[in-house]
Amino acid sequence: MEPFVYTGLASRVVFGSGTLATLADEAAALDIERALVISTPHQGEQAERVRAALGARAAAVFTGATMHTPVEVTAEAMDTVEAEAVDGTVAIGGGPTIGLGKAIALRTDLPQIAVPTTYAGSEMTPILGETEAGRKTTQRTLRVLPETVIYDVDLTLTLPPALSGTSGINAIAHAVEALYAKDRNPITSLMAEEGVRALASALPRIVEDPRAPGPRSDALYGAWLCAACLGAVGMALHHKLCHTLGGSFDLPHAETHTVVLPHATAYNAAAAPEAMAALGRALESDDAPRALFALAGAVGAPRALSALGMPEVGIERATEIALESPYWNPRPLDKDAIAALLARAWSGAEPTA
Ligand code: NAD
Repeated sequence: MEPFVYTGLASRVVFGSGTLATLADEAAALDIERALVISTPHQGEQAERVRAALGARAAAVFTGATMHTPVEVTAEAMDTVEAEAVDGTVAIGGGPTIGLGKAIALRTDLPQIAVPTTYAGSEMTPILGETEAGRKTTQRTLRVLPETVIYDVDLTLTLPPALSGTSGINAIAHAVEALYAKDRNPITSLMAEEGVRALASALPRIVEDPRAPGPRSDALYGAWLCAACLGAVGMALHHKLCHTLGGSFDLPHAETHTVVLPHATAYNAAAAPEAMAALGRALESDDAPRALFALAGAVGAPRALSALGMPEVGIERATEIALESPYWNPRPLDKDAIAALLARAWSGAEPTA
């Protein structure tokens, strides 16, 4: 076995169906007596359910969370934190909501409970992206890692099938890159392989029957494992490309991951044979990039960046930005090969190395 370093991230995970009922006890365990409940405007109804579950431990609800965690929104939420003498937060929703909880923790060190309703995975990471004057900066600090994560399968039953598919493949992308990460280790590799297996088998069943609890449970379990990988090891070309595309062309997060993943995997395949073997086992295929492409097709997801609204002339600009301050990657970055990768992703062609 190769030498390795493994750093465990301390967070408490409560998983199951109906686990929101444990919220008041979980808040008490963190000495939270005056919680701020956070959501987006769209998930205000779920925020009210959270307030009810907290009972007397709820101090206020803030439903202003939004994409990219703008510092002005955080400042607004901070006013409520101070006015209501808040001593902890409960974020219910996806990346934007959990991001706001993290931004508050960065400023106050208040304990956080995250209640995820998508498969994106922010709840398990010490990573925070914030936007100020249109510029996004990302930092990694344990201060923002939520103390407790409540995964309640029931809360995911309403996630629309199309979004379930792309959000699930967004989670798979964390595991794929964890398998060939420079700082990979046996624990994250076990979690990654199992996470891909759970999600890949669950997602097509969810699209068929979105309210069936079995596949939903498998998918959320897989999303947790993939999120833990994202929190523990470094990401590579795929995440760099998605951040570049999302930031430059305002493309939707989960859909962009879904389109790019088969192509980024193909780019790295020959340089990461062990990762491909693990993915092959998880996806029951000897061609992981094609299996990921087929999975996107099976869940009815878009498979072309053109379908997400990216202009063809953007390929050149995206290639240049992706090569600026690149992430470590198993295969060296070659400008022409990356432009070709993006051209295939743009047109919706099958992945090739
Ligand atoms: P999201 O939270 O924006 O959700 C997408 C849509 O689904 C929204 O309209 C939302 O209202 C709806 N929705 C969510 N849960 C639902 C449910 N259970 N039922 C019905 N509708 C539901 O999307 P996301 O993919 O979770 O978040 C993406 C963002 O998260 C990106 O900005 C990304 O950068 C960030 N992110 C950050 C990290 C990190 O570690 N910091 C990790 C992953 C993602």
